[in-house]
Amino acid sequence: MLETVSQGFKNATERLRGVRELTEESIDEALRDVRMSLLEADVDLSVTRSFLARVKERSLGEKIKTRARDRSGRKIRISPGQHFVKICEQELTELMGPVDTTLHKSAGIVSIMLAGLQGVGKTTIAAKLAVHLEKQGKRPLLVAADIYRPAAVDQLQTLGASIDVPVHHGSEGELPPSICATALARAKREGFSAIIYDTAGRLAVDDDLMAELEEIVSGVEPANKLLVCDALMGRDAVHVASAFAERIALDGVILTKLDGDARGGAALAIKAVTGIPIKFLGTGETLDRLEEFRPEGLASRILGMGDIVGLVKDFEGVIDEKEAEADAERLLKGRFGLDDLLKQMRMIQKLGPLKEVFAKMPMFGQVADQVDESELGKVESMIQSMTRSERSDPKLINKSRATRIARGCGRTVSDIEGLVTRFMQMRKMMGSLGKGGGMLSGLGGGMPAMGGPPGMFPGGGMDPSRMLGARSGSGATKKRQDPKARKNKRKQQRNSRKKRRKK
Ligand code: GDP
Repeated sequence: MLETVSQGFKNATERLRGVRELTEESIDEALRDVRMSLLEADVDLSVTRSFLARVKERSLGEKIKTRARDRSGRKIRISPGQHFVKICEQELTELMGPVDTTLHKSAGIVSIMLAGLQGVGKTTIAAKLAVHLEKQGKRPLLVAADIYRPAAVDQLQTLGASIDVPVHHGSEGELPPSICATALARAKREGFSAIIYDTAGRLAVDDDLMAELEEIVSGVEPANKLLVCDALMGRDAVHVASAFAERIALDGVILTKLDGDARGGAALAIKAVTGIPIKFLGTGETLDRLEEFRPEGLASRILGMGDIVGLVKDFEGVIDEKEAEADAERLLKGRFGLDDLLKQMRMIQKLGPLKEVFAKMPMFGQVADQVDESELGKVESMIQSMTRSERSDPKLINKSRATRIARGCGRTVSDIEGLVTRFMQMRKMMGSLGKGGGMLSGLGGGMPAMGGPPGMFPGGGMDPSRMLGARSGSGATKKRQDPKARKNKRKQQRNSRKKRRKK
């Protein structure tokens, strides 16, 4: 998701590593990478220009505080590079926000009209929003108002059936404005608390489409008029949003298929160009892949700083709080088996693609792109080839058992032994942490949803990313460059700057 832009900022920060102050020259150099990545991601040129100008102005204009205190009052040093990242994060957030993702009501019913071109994911989003509203305790009715695409009504009905949400469709020859009005009357009569109108799309913006949408709007007065665009449209998404906004007063945009495109520049530019905020993101074909849009979360994910709020929200969706507490307690008492690990791995998979989960973790955002999903499958297959008693007590796994397990899952004996060794080290470490006291209350209390992470990091403090599939030798495991090498690198950089100035 937005890997192109992310890489640009990563390169820029890399350039500023070791720089003692933010000079015009060093900022220009860093911003060149950002500029290239923004344009490559198909961000509007004028948006790119003004964004870069603001970052530059602030980077040069602000007095950099190199010493500060963290939340616990400890003294920390802030490098000019970190200061630059902070400015970028604030400016990105500003560019995309502010956003209020509350879905509004009219006449006591949360009503949503979805509009957009064909194939952008409207019907899918309709079902995703129904799931989202159900989680908030609403009872939604879906309305199939796309009568022109032959399969659209069937598609919505199939989706509705899969989530147990009724779908209203029109009678033979009934036109969309009438279908929507009849549906609203039914929703009121039958006590639905939310209604979602899936309207027709066209291949391009045309007058008939707009006229029909205007008629629907004046007939049912939806409280949320949302335009659906997909990330693959690139800069066109911005043009389409402007064209729709000229005819109907849009309340927001939903950007879909962010998983299918590394560029996704529209996410950054739509608000700046059209003034309409993005409210939701579609990040996959399945109905659970809907995110409320949080500019600050996306900004820090782009900058490789993680999105802990987003992660906690995801956890809340998949975790059983009581079970998580019990797991955490057993883990800290050193009573945790490979079967528990398997359970936790499956829970993590429910959070979405691993790369995305990593991108939301503060310390792993930078290595998210190195995560190898298949590693997780390998660990899973190894555990599955073990007997129940081996899973709960991996100490039982001697050479001959390891040979049998390896044969069963098609891995090598040393793969099995490596997994067992890493797991035993982790368990021992967590056990000794538990004895220290204090941890249990911390995990079980304030932040129940985070009962997951101890098990999520089966490598413990050694190298959590590896067991979860980051390629070995990745940034996660890379040692910091030694001071001498850093000094030499800085010297080289200074010399090359001098040379360039002479030229
Ligand atoms: P509509 O014509 O606007 O109603 O579009 P559909 O809802 O039928 O979606 C078109 C295609 O895009 C379908 O194959 C969907 O499965 C797919 N799709 C929708 N949303 C997403 C998404 O967020 N990510 C990906 N990868 N595919 C999506």
